[in-house]
Order: sequence, then structure tokens, then C-alpha cells
Amino acid sequence: MGIAKGQKTAIVIGTGAGGATIANELQGDFQVTMLEAGKEFRPFSLSVNRLAGFRKTGMFFDERLIRLLLPNMLVEKTPDMVMVRGIGVGGTTTLATGNAVRCDASLKELGIDLDGEFEELYETLPITTDHRKKWTKATRSMYALFERMGLDPVVTPKLLDAKACIGCGHCAIGCPAGAKWDTRSLVREAIRKGAFLETGCSVTGFAVSGNAVTKVFAMQNGRRKEYEADLVILAAGGLGTPQILERSQISCEKTLFVDPVLCVAGPLQGLRQDRQLLMPFISQQDGYILSPYMDYLSFFFHKDWRLEMRDIASIMIKLADEEKGGISIRGRKEGRGRAAGVRIDKVMTKKDQENMQTAVALAREILERMGVPAASQFLGILNAGHPGGMLPLTQSASASLHDPRLPQNLYVADATILPRAMGNPPILTIMALAKKIARIV
Ligand SMILES: Cc1cc2nc3c(=O)[nH]c(=O)nc-3n(C[C@H](O)[C@H](O)[C@H](O)COP(=O)(O)OP(=O)(O)OC[C@H]3O[C@@H](n4cnc5c(N)ncnc54)[C@H](O)[C@@H]3O)c2cc1C
Repeated sequence: MGIAKGQKTAIVIGTGAGGATIANELQGDFQVTMLEAGKEFRPFSLSVNRLAGFRKTGMFFDERLIRLLLPNMLVEKTPDMVMVRGIGVGGTTTLATGNAVRCDASLKELGIDLDGEFEELYETLPITTDHRKKWTKATRSMYALFERMGLDPVVTPKLLDAKACIGCGHCAIGCPAGAKWDTRSLVREAIRKGAFLETGCSVTGFAVSGNAVTKVFAMQNGRRKEYEADLVILAAGGLGTPQILERSQISCEKTLFVDPVLCVAGPLQGLRQDRQLLMPFISQQDGYILSPYMDYLSFFFHKDWRLEMRDIASIMIKLADEEKGGISIRGRKEGRGRAAGVRIDKVMTKKDQENMQTAVALAREILERMGVPAASQFLGILNAGHPGGMLPLTQSASASLHDPRLPQNLYVADATILPRAMGNPPILTIMALAKKIARIV
């Protein structure tokens, strides 16, 4: 399919929550080309139990090796934690547990009204709490305990076909039943409407002339590529987008947040939490959330997680961290050519550590009440999968949703523009923002 004469063109970089949403919205008004660094998503296809047997051989010594099992999951290390993100069609939404939570308070404070966009999302996406009907005994008893403890658990709205869910607990390593929704549907929809998709195409930077992006540089199969378009949308995620901007001489801020996650776990024979939909309910606390979650990363890569998965009880803490951190690009900085090395400068601040300690104490108490003695409890790997905030929206940009540092034909439409850590699932809010930006451009 060619480009209609006179039709404006748009390049969308990344096909995750923000990228796929905006590409699908723009296709038609623009001829859209999606440039995606990764390939098609492939779910984890091996037997978890069989692989678990290899843990004692010591072969799972570095979390980054997860990519051998799950090629679309990229793990990067900082001194304090490991960062997890999805590289491939659908971005990190393919690894998400499908939570669909509206959390736009910080945007509302800036005067950004997303009511219409959320309404549309609720109308068009398969958001449901129907999974509750299929809860296992373990989930039901955990929910009842949370209630008894006054923790106000709320059944998590999920991007899910609850009927098709087989309760395998694999939500975060690729739903084998195709029950969980992710943004690959929007990519397919955009293509159906005429958009182009280039996979394995990693954008390295831009050329800017006057106040406009004139060229987008990328590497595909070891080859340099150049693209031109009237409009460029950057949606390479909270870590990918700042890298491309910095390499194009556009500085971001040191305001990276990541929503650090820590699981507190312990032995509970025959609980079978491995057969539970991940994060079936959420308890909102001051600055963090608690939710039942089987942590695959810790299960394979943390030396204390040596039990069978079926006998582990695990509570996840997800923290709203301080917006302090950034990235440093090493080596070549220009936008052309191979991507340079990147260091993620993110540590837990004193306040983050204090909040985490409070949360751990509460999670430990829950486990004790479930029958897991304090002495047998253990912690997981501190990790994070909600990076964002390095080009935060401000009140002055609340109408344009365009940062004045950016050339006039370049917009950012992903977690990078969120103003604050939410300590909560951000997909729905990023999608609402992406829809709004599509309307503006
Ligand atoms: C294990 C896990 C579970 C999660 N569960 C949930 C959940 O249940 N609900 C929820 O709301 N949130 C969840 N999240 C977080 C959520 O998935 C992310 O916050 C969200 O997807 C971010 O959207 P984004 O558009 O900013 O980036 P992403 O979705 O990460 O998309 C970025 C895209 O850009 C591409 N890309 C990166 N660099 C380049 C480049 N140089 N050139 C071209 N393309 C590039 C990537 O391949 C990707 O497709 C989870 C995260 C993890 C890690």
C-alpha cells in the first residue's frame, strides 16, 4: 500500500502502551510508520517446573539471563535494583499482568482533563473484574484476610477475557491462552487500517534543523536507516525515550521514577499461589500498594527462593519512589550509528528505604497471619518495571502536552511525560495521554 498523494506522514517510535495507542489513533489522518526495536513477542514456552530443577546447578546466576528464556524481556541492572522492560511488538504491555487502573491525579493537578479519553478506553477495551468468579481457594482466603486486617482490598480491573483465562499464573511471562489483552491488538488494528510496521528497527536519534526533526536515524539488521516524516512521536518508554532524546542533544531531567517492587515470601505447603492470576486484588496504602504476586524473577534468580513454586506464599510491594535518578550515555553521543552504552542512575533514597521498610513490616504481618512464621520468610529481588518521568509534563504544557524543549513536530507519548511516580499500574493512564496527544496533533 503506498502513501496517498498529499497525505501527511507520521513516524511512531515504539509499540507499547503509548506508541501503539497513538499509532492506531493517527493512522488515517496520517500515513503512520511504526519503528519498533524488538521483534514479535514470544511467550515463555518451557515448563516452569522442569526449569526450576536447574536452579540448584547455579545456572541462573544473573537476572539478565532471563532473556534466554523470554527474549522480549530486557533486564538491566543498577547498583540497587534490576530494571525490567519489554522490547518487542506490544512493548512492556506483553509482560504486564493486565491491571487496568486509572491513576491520573497528578495530571489533573496540572489541569489535564482525561475524562473523555478514559471513557473511550473503558468503552473499547476488555476491562473486567469477572476473574473473581474463578478465584482459587488461596486467592479467596488471602482477600478475606486483607479484609479482616482492614487493608481495603479492591478486586483489580483487568485487561482480560476472564472466560478464556486458564489460571496458569503466567500473566507476566506471556499469557499462553491469549486471554490477557495487550497493545499488540492496536498494532494489528493500525496495520489493518494501512499503517506500516518495521520490527528490529532501533531508533538511535534525530537530526534537528530549525525547530523541526528532519531525519530519524535507526539501526536495522546491522544497517543504518534514515526516515523522514511530517510528525514524529517518540514512545520508546521511560528508559528508551530519554536515551534517544539525549543522543539527539535534547536533555531530559534527573527525575526518573521506577515504582520499585519487592516481594516478601515464605513457605506455605500446597498453597498453590502459582495457579493464581497475578495481582488479583490490590490494597492501596500510603505511598505503596500490596498485592499477591508470584515473582518469577526471584524464583529463578534469588538464592533464597529454593522451594517449589506451589509451596510459596508471596506478597508484592510496589512503591511510589522519589523522582530522583536519570541515565548517563557513555561513548558516542550523536544520534547516528549504533546505540552507545547507557548507565541507569537510580538508587533508593532514604525516604524510599524507609517507606519500603514500613511496607515490608506489613507484608510480613500478613504472611504470619497466613501461617508463615516470621523466621521462615524471605525477600525477593528488588526490581522495577514502571520507569518514567524524565520529561515531566508541567502546568504550562497542560494544553499542548508538548515540552518546549522539543522541536515543534516531535511529541513524546509514553511514561516519560508522567509528572510523578504513581506506585500503581500506569498503562491505562499512558494510553489516555497518548489518545489526547493524538487529538492535539
Ligand atoms: C512485569 C511487569 C508487569 C507489569 N504489569 C502492569 C500492569 O498489570 N498494568 C499496568 O498498567 N502496568 C504494568 N506494567 C508497567 C507497564 O507495562 C509499563 O509502564 C508501560 O507499558 C509503559 O508504557 P510505555 O509506552 O511508556 O513503554 P513500553 O510499553 O515499554 O513501550 C516502549 C516501546 O518502545 C520500544 N523501544 C524501546 N527503545 C526503542 C528504540 N530505540 N527504537 C525503537 N523502539 C524502541 C520497545 O520495544 C517498546 O515496544 C508492568 C511492567 C512489568 C515490567
